Order: sequence, then structure tokens, then C-alpha cells
Amino acid sequence: MEHTTELISAASIAARVDEMAARLDEDYAVLGELVLVGVLKGSFIFLADLARRLSIPHRVEFIAVSSYGDRESDEAGEVRLIMDVRHPIVDKHVLVVEDIVDTGHTLSYLMRLLLARGPASLRACTLLHKPDRRQVDVQIDYVGFEIPDTWVVGYGLDFAERHRTLPNLCELVVDGS
Ligand code: 5GP
Repeated sequence: MEHTTELISAASIAARVDEMAARLDEDYAVLGELVLVGVLKGSFIFLADLARRLSIPHRVEFIAVSSYGDRESDEAGEVRLIMDVRHPIVDKHVLVVEDIVDTGHTLSYLMRLLLARGPASLRACTLLHKPDRRQVDVQIDYVGFEIPDTWVVGYGLDFAERHRTLPNLCELVVDGS
């Protein structure tokens, strides 16, 4: 079977999300309304916490993608759109909010998709980044934590829909492997 061991505590996540929100408040202070685009499902808890700590005016949108193949983007890195944002983003300041950047295929796809719609600005924010796994060169403007190449669950992230609502970030350990 499997078990989980803590990688990042709920208190450390809260402290880092506070810092990230403060940075965004500063960076977007003079730009006007920010459109946060949360990537479902994994980012929903991060987005909820981040958005509630922002002082700048902001709107929340969601987008959903899926990878061909199994859980991760497969080798070909093919990503498809499952659900689009509700409102046009042309001339808006857009921030993509991801749970984790692994190979980079998903974020790269999303940035190309959204950039083609003519936003006033487009940046990416991720709670977690696995630098060792990167295959695609894509700019990430805000990173919460860099983590080693391990499968992470909790705080919105799942394994086969399990462990998503753990308050902390944990490494999933498959026993006997
Ligand atoms: P990428 O396209 O960068 O390879 O993968 C991004 C997506 O893969 C994430 O949005 C997430 O859905 C999934 N993913 C990658 N690594 C992990 C992980 O450690 N834990 C979980 N739960 N999902 C991951």
C-alpha cells in the first residue's frame, strides 16, 4: 500500500503564501485589476488561500486541462483543454495559478493558449516546482517552494483523487517499491 510523510507543514505553507501575496500586492499595485486563473483541480486550495490574502483588486477564473496518458503529462507532453475560463482576458492582467510545475508541458501549453488572447500581461505562479524534472523551458514568475523529484499530495494535490484535502504537503510513499 502507500503512506504519506510530511514535506512542508501547514504553517510553512501559510507563511509562504502570505509572502507570495505580499509580492503580488506590490508588483500589481499600479496595474489595476488582476485576473487569477486557477488550474483545476490541484490549485483550488492554494488559489483560495492566495486570493484571500491579496489586497489588490482581483477576479478569480478557473481553467482545466488534462494530459493524454496517465497522471502526468506523457512523454509527448500533449495537453488538452477540458474547461475554459468564463470571461475574455483580452487587455487584462492575468496570473496563471498552478499547484505544481513538473515537466513544464502543462504550463507551457497554458501560457501559449492565454497569450494568444491578447492579455495586457501574463505571468505564472506556482506553489511547487520540481526543477529536476523540467523538460520545457517556460518562465515561472512566482514560485512557492522548490522540491525534489517525488510525488506530492495534500493542499489540493492528489493521488488518484486521494489525499487532496490534507492540510499539509506530503510525499506519497508507495510501500515496498
Ligand atoms: P507538467 O505538465 O509540468 O509535467 O505537470 C503538471 C501537472 O502534473 C500538475 O498540474 C499536476 O496535475 C501533475 N503533477 C506533477 N507532479 C505532481 C505531484 O508530485 N503530485 C501531484 N499530485 N500532481 C503532480
